[in-house]
Amino acid sequence: MHELSLAGGVLQIVEQAAAREGFCRVRRLVVEAGALSGVEVRALRFALESLAPGSCLEGSQIEIEEPPGEAWCQACSQSVPLAARGDACPRCGSHRLQPTGGTDLRVRELLVEDRPGSAGPMASSMS
Ligand SMILES: [Zn+2]
Repeated sequence: MHELSLAGGVLQIVEQAAAREGFCRVRRLVVEAGALSGVEVRALRFALESLAPGSCLEGSQIEIEEPPGEAWCQACSQSVPLAARGDACPRCGSHRLQPTGGTDLRVRELLVEDRPGSAGPMASSMS
């Protein structure tokens, strides 16, 4: 199951941060799974929740955001919205598209228990 290994990767990022920064509990985790990342959000949430017990994610609030896809159309020479990989350009119907946004799965925010208010954006991309 694809999402289970992705969730394992997310958990690994969280636990590495926990080891580095000396916290043990996560209050809130925000994961960004772009519309073009190929990640099924519901499956990812389920996988994260099944990994949480016994880890530092236990009892934490898990949010998954799904930023919309965006691509550069070579035919239009402009940026266009893209709902899914493999879709044609909504303006001209061309398939010469280069995905530029919504392609990542990453940890966007991590709010930890023992240092209230210390939320910070994390730039850990995991592609
Ligand atoms: Zn186009």
